[in-house]
Amino acid sequence: MIDTAIRTTCPYCGVGCGVIAERDDASGAWAVRGDPGHPANFGRLCVKGAALAETIGLDGRLLHPMIGGAAAGWETALDLVAEKFSAVIAEHGPDSVAFYVSGQLLTEDYYAANKLMKGFIGSANIDTNSRLCMSSTVAGHVRAFGSDTVPGCYEDLDLADLVVLVGSNTAWCHPVAFQRILAAKTRRPDMRIVVIDPRRTATAECADLHLAIRPGSDAILFNGLLAHLKGEETDLDVGVPLEQIVSFFSWFADTEKTVTVWSQGINQSSSGTDKVDAIINCHLLTGRIGRPGMGPFSLTGQPNAMGGREVGGLANMLAAHMGFDEANVERVGRFWNAPRMAAKPGLKAVDLFKAVKDGRIKALWVMATNPAVSLPEADEVRAAMAACPFVVISECEADTDSAQFAHVRLPALAWGEKVGTVTNSERRISRQRPFLPAPGEARGDWWIIAQVAGRMGFGEAFAWTGAGEIFDEFCRLTAFENDGARDLDLAGLVGGDYESLEPIQWPVKAPGQGTARLFADGRFYHPDGRSRMLDIEPRPPARLPDEAFPLILNTGRMRDQWHTMTRTGRSARLAAHAPEPLLSVHPRDALRFGLADGGLARVSGRRAAVVLRVALDSGQRPGEVFAPIHWNDRTASGAVVGSLIDAATDPVSGQPELKQAPVMVAPL
Ligand code: SF4
Repeated sequence: MIDTAIRTTCPYCGVGCGVIAERDDASGAWAVRGDPGHPANFGRLCVKGAALAETIGLDGRLLHPMIGGAAAGWETALDLVAEKFSAVIAEHGPDSVAFYVSGQLLTEDYYAANKLMKGFIGSANIDTNSRLCMSSTVAGHVRAFGSDTVPGCYEDLDLADLVVLVGSNTAWCHPVAFQRILAAKTRRPDMRIVVIDPRRTATAECADLHLAIRPGSDAILFNGLLAHLKGEETDLDVGVPLEQIVSFFSWFADTEKTVTVWSQGINQSSSGTDKVDAIINCHLLTGRIGRPGMGPFSLTGQPNAMGGREVGGLANMLAAHMGFDEANVERVGRFWNAPRMAAKPGLKAVDLFKAVKDGRIKALWVMATNPAVSLPEADEVRAAMAACPFVVISECEADTDSAQFAHVRLPALAWGEKVGTVTNSERRISRQRPFLPAPGEARGDWWIIAQVAGRMGFGEAFAWTGAGEIFDEFCRLTAFENDGARDLDLAGLVGGDYESLEPIQWPVKAPGQGTARLFADGRFYHPDGRSRMLDIEPRPPARLPDEAFPLILNTGRMRDQWHTMTRTGRSARLAAHAPEPLLSVHPRDALRFGLADGGLARVSGRRAAVVLRVALDSGQRPGEVFAPIHWNDRTASGAVVGSLIDAATDPVSGQPELKQAPVMVAPL
């Protein structure tokens, strides 16, 4: 018999599925099922979401504050963190400290960290692992729309007659959104799916048309489409047969209800912002934006990448989607009654760790992420953290790759224990509710941040007694002097009942009134109310293959794993899908480099090498290999793929090019 049922949200991808956690009265065991009432998934779950109950054990959890290798009380640990940060700031200034945070944080946690750094410490050196995920989309949105606004919603996937999936293995990385697309196709077989991806992925297997374009040539393709839509002659080479391009262009031109969905294959590029705007250009030209069944649509990778964008988790944004112009700096400072507002953008992720390495950052606080695995040039990041005079890590896990560099580790609550909100890819804010007791001495991230802020002398501004008070403050900030000039407006949630908050899409200008779509009225957020079509000059990847490193390494997710496997790694069922990381190699390349199916290959980049088992895959383009990102040096394989990737970044967004790294392979 079910004793307790709690409605919350899946902690994995940006689809943001609602889940119900239920405890069996007799056994005390928890089970998780999809929430039929949640508009992101209507009860559906993917295999990762369905296995959530298998991942809630306490093995390997960090349960007590630790100073070095010894347990310490909260008072001692918090005093030490506040004292060290204050001392470094006093001696070297606010820009000598940094926070590196995460799309795994809840909006309230993110808000607290951002407020402390940008309003009270007085630096904008707070960046997030969302920089690796969708910062090119943020920059592309802002250039085109004047705001970081996703125009549409998941319902558009149900209504579209053409869905174009670009650089997105949606079937594995956003499975419930993909199920929605397939369900629409089953209902309306004339609906078409086009997949643009160098690899023949599980997503591409379901497509009416798969364009396996040359890696990095997306902007050439969409510039060609734009020219075609204008009726101009085009001559383009993206490495696929001309008849495929003709089909894609004519389907797009003839289908009003078209949604173009993209994800990391577009964003994780040294020209990601341009690629985003090359796609948006085609929708702006045809007016296919913000109306049912049509629009450009970015799928975020993490559960709360969007929430982080909203509260200023990126070093180049203030809270509530405000930028660093003088009026907004003054406005946010006044709202917070901030003693020392940051007046300029801070360091973006890759540059932030370079500053740690060269000694400009002398105190670093990492929250809910594992940069020693996930950043490019991972070995350099490790060296930087090892050399940093003071490193704090707030974590659920005791033993991450990054934790080895921490002087202080602070135990954070995990999914199922913590309280807050997340925002999914369609701007829908949902509650995460606890159903498990706080284990050991673990505390919510916002509480930890507020305690440190208090000890640094800022107690009054951080005197929240619960996450709901932080959410209310954030909602008030979005509405503060917002005369319609800013997209993110939560005025309708101010003073609302946090406990019973139902999933709702922003802007919410009046109670209960969310917004499914924006821009259908032709009004955008540039000062003149218009959108911008960008003149895009396609650029090749920053690092091209050569004689020494003749192959391109592409990286991405597996269907059943998440990030560095700290949670999904607990489920034997999920591990069974791919027990070890495999290097996918086209048979022709295997022949060329002497690799055997199932044999081991040494994969060398310019800075490092890893060993991976080979899987022949005729779905790879010859000349390109693929490896998953999840494994790390604490897993059996120890294959830190991030160490192979150079830290080339997009000049506008700062997002690193994680999809194209020149490598050499050799049999072991
Ligand atoms: Fe969770 Fe994403 Fe799967 Fe939904 S699709 S259950 S949000 S991992």
